[in-house]
Amino acid sequence: MNQEKTKKLLLFNTLTRQLELFKPIFSPRVRVYTCGPTVYDHTHLGHMRTYTNTDILIRTLKYCDYQPYQVMNITDVGHLTSDRNTGEDKLEKAAQREGVDAWQLVKKYSQEFFGVLDKLNINNPSVTPKATENIAEMILLVCELEKKGFAYQIDDGIYFNTSRFSNYGQLANVSLADLEEGARVEKNIEKKNPTDFALWKFSNLKENRQMEWPSPWAKRGFPGWHIECSVMAMKYLSDCFKGGKFYPERFETIDIHTGGIEHINVHHTNEIAQSEAATNKKFVNYWLHYNWLQVDGRKMSKSLGNFFTQKDLADRGYQDLMFLRYLFLNTHYRKRMNFTWEALDQAKKTYQEIIYLLRKIISQEEVINQETEEFRQTEKTSSYFTDFNKAVTTDLNMPQALAVVHRVLKDKGLFGSTRWHILKNFDQVLGLDLEKQVSGALRESKKKIPQKIKTLVEVRQKNRQEENWRQADLVRAQIEAGGYLIEDTPTGPKLTPKK
Ligand code: AMP
Ligand code: ZN
Repeated sequence: MNQEKTKKLLLFNTLTRQLELFKPIFSPRVRVYTCGPTVYDHTHLGHMRTYTNTDILIRTLKYCDYQPYQVMNITDVGHLTSDRNTGEDKLEKAAQREGVDAWQLVKKYSQEFFGVLDKLNINNPSVTPKATENIAEMILLVCELEKKGFAYQIDDGIYFNTSRFSNYGQLANVSLADLEEGARVEKNIEKKNPTDFALWKFSNLKENRQMEWPSPWAKRGFPGWHIECSVMAMKYLSDCFKGGKFYPERFETIDIHTGGIEHINVHHTNEIAQSEAATNKKFVNYWLHYNWLQVDGRKMSKSLGNFFTQKDLADRGYQDLMFLRYLFLNTHYRKRMNFTWEALDQAKKTYQEIIYLLRKIISQEEVINQETEEFRQTEKTSSYFTDFNKAVTTDLNMPQALAVVHRVLKDKGLFGSTRWHILKNFDQVLGLDLEKQVSGALRESKKKIPQKIKTLVEVRQKNRQEENWRQADLVRAQIEAGGYLIEDTPTGPKLTPKK
């Protein structure tokens, strides 16, 4: 059976620093929590890499016949510019900069974020709750921690006492003393331990905050950053909150939690501490962390100002984000990746080549849906599936999976339709949108386009290659005057007759 899938999924678990056989608690259901974006600025390529890798995980789970249920939070309430509860509130600061209120700001950047996910062919998570919709639950969790003796109040808020939690620092694989060493920059002298973190902050009454809520401790305040993820994970994956009450005993350990590697030492370490202290159960079984996208050896980030957005890509002629997805798949999620325009250009060429070859292989649209006898029977087909499955189930090894794709494409010993059906199956994991791209290209090639327009398209392509943008624009105008709209896609320029 060539489509046989191995369910032995191996994932690298940050908690144990080992490759582990994945076993969900309520198989085939898999409960996944993903740290989502803070929506106060543009989505950049670094985010795009992380969420493409998350999408690969979800697709792989489905490919292995699991039923993932994924919760991804949207951080729409500002936490402070420092991980350690000091500094300015990023979200409120950005709203001031743009002259809008915080809610409008959040709406604008959330829409942009989801638009980008769509363009990258990333499936939406099952649910994407916002922090501001879960404030009451956050307060309940803090109260529970207070009741159990893990929280204390100081001048500016309620803090978690890390010395009361014996496993603190397990995820980061360092002792409390090491973490304290790293936290020496901390200014708040009232805290009992340098690693203690805010669960709930009191508003500074001299400041005018837009986002603040009443709480049992003070009239005006706002949540600490880490608390939102614990709450949303418990609420949406374990049903721990009902009728204004928190039921810690209802909590069932989550299967997988994902996020960027910078979250290991602080954010995720603190999520574990406050969740396990409240429920007395293991918070998460498998922790997956994605490595960074870098530029010139430094993490692409808002704070360094070295980031590129969807607009930067479009300005350089990359309207279609599938090239970028293809580029991301070339580096394993646990490796750092350096972004260059040359690498993106190379990815574009290779991706276009794949679509071009597939188009040649599939001369008729009927082939797209009909599996051949050869596809179902041959050993060769089966061996490609074995190799592909091994790659994806060994810690989501996409570079190796892509190598199998290229071998299949080149295998002239198989019928074209067989090769297509193998790749169509692989694309369930890769998400390269092959079927849509190929059928679109086929439909296009069927339409009769006048020779004059075809020639103009070639001239424009040449102008573009020579970066003669002005001339290219003039030719575009001629094409449009001839009754066609032209758009640049991964398969080359696409013509649509004007209505
Ligand atoms: P933020 O909106 O900054 O909270 O980031 C949302 C997610 O994007 C986090 O899981 C980050 O780890 C991830 N992220 C941010 N910058 C990068 C980057 N340069 N490379 C990879 N992931 C990133
Ligand atoms: Zn989080």
